[in-house]
Amino acid sequence: MRDPRYDVLFEPVRIGPLVAKNRFFQVPHCNGMGYRDPAAHAEMRAVKAEGGWAVVCTEQAEIHYTSEVTPFIEARIWDDCDMPALALMAERVHDGGALAGIELAYNGMNGPNLHSRVVPLGPVNLPVASFTADPVQARAMTRRDIANLRRWHRQAVDRALRAGFDLVYVYAGHALGGVHHFLSRRYNLRTDEYGGSLHNRMRLLRELLEDTVEEAAGRAAVGCRLTVEESGHAHGIDRAEIEAVIGELGELPDVWDFVPGTWEDDSVTSRFSAEAHQEEWVRGLKALTSKPVVGVGRFTSPDTMVRMVRQGVLDFIGAARPSIADPFLPQKIEQGRAEDIRECIGCNICVSGDFTMSPIRCTQNPSMGEEWRRGWHPERYRPRHADERVLVVGAGPAGLEAAMSLGKRGYEVVLVEKSRVLGGRVAAEARLPGLAEWIRVVDYRAGQISQLHNVEHYLESEMTAPEALAYRFDHIAVATGSVWRRDGVARWHTRPDTMALGAMPVLTPDDIMAGRRPEGGRVVIFDDDHYYMGGALAEMLRAEGYEVVLVTPETLVSAWTVNTMEQHRIHGRLIEIGVELHTSRAVVAVGDSDVSTQCTYTGQSGRIDCDSAVLVTSRLPDDGLHQDLLDRAAVWADHGLRSVRTIGDALAPATIAAAVWEGRRYAEELEAPTDDSDATPYRREVTALAR
Ligand code: ADP
Ligand code: SF4
Repeated sequence: MRDPRYDVLFEPVRIGPLVAKNRFFQVPHCNGMGYRDPAAHAEMRAVKAEGGWAVVCTEQAEIHYTSEVTPFIEARIWDDCDMPALALMAERVHDGGALAGIELAYNGMNGPNLHSRVVPLGPVNLPVASFTADPVQARAMTRRDIANLRRWHRQAVDRALRAGFDLVYVYAGHALGGVHHFLSRRYNLRTDEYGGSLHNRMRLLRELLEDTVEEAAGRAAVGCRLTVEESGHAHGIDRAEIEAVIGELGELPDVWDFVPGTWEDDSVTSRFSAEAHQEEWVRGLKALTSKPVVGVGRFTSPDTMVRMVRQGVLDFIGAARPSIADPFLPQKIEQGRAEDIRECIGCNICVSGDFTMSPIRCTQNPSMGEEWRRGWHPERYRPRHADERVLVVGAGPAGLEAAMSLGKRGYEVVLVEKSRVLGGRVAAEARLPGLAEWIRVVDYRAGQISQLHNVEHYLESEMTAPEALAYRFDHIAVATGSVWRRDGVARWHTRPDTMALGAMPVLTPDDIMAGRRPEGGRVVIFDDDHYYMGGALAEMLRAEGYEVVLVTPETLVSAWTVNTMEQHRIHGRLIEIGVELHTSRAVVAVGDSDVSTQCTYTGQSGRIDCDSAVLVTSRLPDDGLHQDLLDRAAVWADHGLRSVRTIGDALAPATIAAAVWEGRRYAEELEAPTDDSDATPYRREVTALAR
């Protein structure tokens, strides 16, 4: 039964002509599937509707070919050809009992138009503000262009209604579209009636809202997503301006969706922001309109959600990431099972799907993006095919997920872990600066396993091959993880003999996470890994008082975190705290009291005096147990053993998200592994030839 403290979250809320059945609102979010994988997209949204969200929206849907964000993959509603894909999503969301929303976006000078090749349109002549800094300029829109845009937007509204959507958004948020650009003095230097005064700059937004309301004619609700703060930027939208905008336009749409700044300012990782960090900008705006307000805040705590409503900050609990990590979050609160929520950890691996143009994935929810193509569900598991017992060795993210998923399938599972704690690398990495929320990967799975009477786990139990065989399991999953290399091998040094090592102490991330510290006061970190580890260790050691020099062959520190939208924050923080950065350089030798470096462009050599070196390069699978078991393959049958498989980092070190996904895949495919299959083991959507 639901805790009565949370009743307020389940009150229906009117949105114009509609009623949302509760306050849970999945706001628009990108997913790297968009127009390319429409059935997969529809099923992903359907699962959220099933999980209890009252409103489930698309990502931004490009309304016209003059405004497209290739290579990024978003929804499209350019013309009637796009309607079947969107209609399928609306239908599947309705099947789940939710209202379907669509975010109509005119990207304007965000879209380089690499597909359509036509010149992008913006308020002024400016280079496009795309993530990839394309050599493309937008041209200033004429009055005729603006009239065209209004007509295209109306046509998109009409299509959205015909596709079955209940809620149609005008998108003026995240600096990701033309409407935002017109509103902001950062971009709008026009001298006609669409530029200059705030009244003029909001004219386009007013017109699009009026057009949309008129076109919807009470058949659908109208929403508006609006950036309410850009004060970090010179000439950005400020509080006084946004209060004036809501003062003038506050009653036009049926629901407001307030966001701060750009997408990077909004979807901040947990390393750099806490739950509800948007509150400071959104608080107080609701008083300026009688219309309901939705806002996000990586909300996973029902108490925080209740506070948002009770204190009049929000009417709707908006969520993108929390709904990705747990599509059933509303239902779990409703059923009094808040402890079963798979809480988002704020790692932005989901965002990396969009940035790498690949279908969305999630560290916490391995079924995300696999709902249609592999038939995985976040809560439902196929029952076991036989009465069999499985041994899972290693309780990192792969082992925990495998044990939990096998348990939910009904198998008898024994999970053994050699250390004193569950969690493997996650238990260690969650102690790095800013990564505390990552422990939720362990907490969720440990909590679920504790409820499964068919899953036992044992700590401080190092498993050997003879023991594993003696216990007579039907299947063994080896999830023994990986170790950081000490020889410098990764991308720059692809063989151990190219990096000379002298007398200086060399440490690895494993050493540091285990509590060892560099000798002396000055340490060089060589980061040839490029994800978070090098930057996080630099931050930690600097905070402990070391002089830290970070050397990386990339041009940016923690370069891959561009894809989690935090590279600029990591780089900025390291500069602020005084870490000495040497980018585009590789460490080629570690001497007795210095390291030798080389410029990656010119080969020019250099040296850095230091007392210790930390090599953040790559990892080696810890597959010794697997090898020992393979060596005994001849006697497996004598011990009733049918299969041994290695999963997660023990197979090939990768992200935590990948380890969790491998754990789930192992459990899904226990009786029929697809590792050696000739056929593609998941469904694809292949475009039909149009002749
Ligand atoms: P992954 O990311 O693949 O889950 P981790 O490195 O996070 O890998 O976790 C591997 C876990 O396996 C660690 O907690 C480690 O202590 C444990 N482990 C390694 N070898 C053994 C073993 N022989 N018996 C039991 N546990 C083991
Ligand atoms: Fe949250 Fe990370 Fe999942 Fe994104 S990938 S929803 S940030 S847990």
